[in-house]
Amino acid sequence: MERADFLIVGGGVAGLSAAARLALHGRVVLLEGEEALGYHSSGRSVSFSHYGIGGAAVRALTAYSRDRFAPPLGRTFPTLYFAEAEAVPALEALAADMAAFTDAIRPVEAAEMAALFPPLRTGPGGAVRGLLDPTGLKLDADLILQSYARAVRAAGGAVLTGRRVVAAEPGWTVRTEGGESFSAPVLVNAAGAWADRFAALAGVAPLGLTPLRRTIIVVEPPAGAAIGSWPFALSATRDFYLQPEAGRLLVSPVDEVADDPCDAQPEDYDIALAAERLEHYTTIAVTRIAHRWAGLRTFTADRVPKAGFAPDAPGFFWLAGQGGYGFQTAPAMAEIAEALIAGGAWPKGLAERGLGVEQVAPGRGAAGAGPA
Ligand SMILES: Cc1cc2nc3c(=O)[nH]c(=O)nc-3n(C[C@H](O)[C@H](O)[C@H](O)COP(=O)(O)OP(=O)(O)OC[C@H]3O[C@@H](n4cnc5c(N)ncnc54)[C@H](O)[C@@H]3O)c2cc1C
Repeated sequence: MERADFLIVGGGVAGLSAAARLALHGRVVLLEGEEALGYHSSGRSVSFSHYGIGGAAVRALTAYSRDRFAPPLGRTFPTLYFAEAEAVPALEALAADMAAFTDAIRPVEAAEMAALFPPLRTGPGGAVRGLLDPTGLKLDADLILQSYARAVRAAGGAVLTGRRVVAAEPGWTVRTEGGESFSAPVLVNAAGAWADRFAALAGVAPLGLTPLRRTIIVVEPPAGAAIGSWPFALSATRDFYLQPEAGRLLVSPVDEVADDPCDAQPEDYDIALAAERLEHYTTIAVTRIAHRWAGLRTFTADRVPKAGFAPDAPGFFWLAGQGGYGFQTAPAMAEIAEALIAGGAWPKGLAERGLGVEQVAPGRGAAGAGPA
């Protein structure tokens, strides 16, 4: 039996970021079922940080987390939200929502959009208005995961892969598939899409999480295109995005298809939809799909990630429901976990941005939300 102060189940960005903070307060043991860290959602993310996603709580977590992604963990990357004529009201609503968190975003007209992102179809029948955020952040997912793991090990903690937890008893003692046992007074459930299943294993009431599948296709850019200066481009109607990366284009139809916790695989329908939307919004012809993948984005009922002790199980800590923003919110969520577990003040920068403990408390919906 190996003893620790904090046991963490799940080696994705949620578990690893919390582990790095908790390692400042005691011995951490993190258990990941797969042979590699970040095998599931965290290894399939496009790992961008921007304000075009989520509600006010997610934007507050995003704003707070930005400073923790100094280069080389993150680098600024322009972000363009564009709208066809009928989507202009959606773009205006997005602008109003984002304005509370950043003043860097400015409107752009069709000519400037065409200059910034030449293949975008602009003008009548195409994009007519846009918003440009020059301060978007492209995150280096692998570097971020590895830097958290290094911090845990440097503090004397353990990050163990190939350790699937199959039993958990209050106290807390967990047993892995391989027969090893670990114990600690605090057990952090950072099991991603499996977090409800893991809770059931531990005899804890589920949160009601919903894993939704998202698909990415990778296509070659048009010959000679200078994609190094293209922005991350998203439709205001949230049915398409394109991100230039390492000389290729990552394209998503922004699908949200309910799935069971699993090794998610892309479906033909969603792959075709991605190609169709790319050809609809841009002049890029899809001749070959070089690569494709899918991953799960796991949401709570109110789409706000949760961090807090389970009301029904002392020492059982939820860190789940990171949805489509687990990277861009990870530093804030990890510091919340640190404050609630190790005892400390609620992060001031979150309170200042209107985010209180109620909004992230597990076992509650949107009701009761408000600054601490
Ligand atoms: C296509 C796509 C694009 C995305 N783009 C972005 C983006 O641009 N920006 C952003 O911020 N977010 C993005 N996300 C979301 C982000 O990837 C997730 O929110 C984040 O990775 C969730 O992290 P996690 O640690 O909760 O889950 P995971 O990374 O899935 O980690 C959970 C881990 O728990 C392990 N586990 C489960 N059960 C057990 C057990 N019993 N024993 C041991 N281990 C167990 C699993 O093996 C898994 O590795 C995207 C996601 C997808 C799929």
